[in-house]
Amino acid sequence: MTVQQTYIMLKPDAVERRLVGEIISRIEDKGYSIIQAKLMTLTKDVIADHYAHLTDQPFYPKLENYMLSGPVFGLVVEGEEAIQGMRSMMGPTNVFDANPGTIRGDFATDLTYNVIHGSDSLESAYIEIRRFFG
Ligand code: UDP
Ligand code: MG
Repeated sequence: MTVQQTYIMLKPDAVERRLVGEIISRIEDKGYSIIQAKLMTLTKDVIADHYAHLTDQPFYPKLENYMLSGPVFGLVVEGEEAIQGMRSMMGPTNVFDANPGTIRGDFATDLTYNVIHGSDSLESAYIEIRRFFG
């Protein structure tokens, strides 16, 4: 067991739908700590960096519009095995595979508009925390 930090981002639909408190409650109830948090408006450049693995995909324009559609709430979450733990709490990328009880399973019905981002590895957590919190 290792204490890890992971980058979590409540996407524009989560902020607009006022799900921020509910999702933070779930993270805290799990036993993780919020180390840093801020509301921010992303630029096209930051979105392209963050989703560099997807810029060639046909759905990228939709994803970019989504991430530009309003502020996001970025968080650094810390806890035992928090990277995989948060991914489990979020549910899979495809909301149609996300079980009830997961954040995506409970709050999302669209493949793009899926409420939350979480780092998928130790390396991406390190890069993403630096990208959004310096
Ligand atoms: N996405 C999409 N269509 C797809 C796959 C992904 O719109 O077919 C969006 C969705 O918002 C997803 C984001 O692109 O959360 C990043 O995709 P990734 O594969 O990194 O999934 P995640 O790490 O968010 O589960
Ligand atoms: Mg990802």
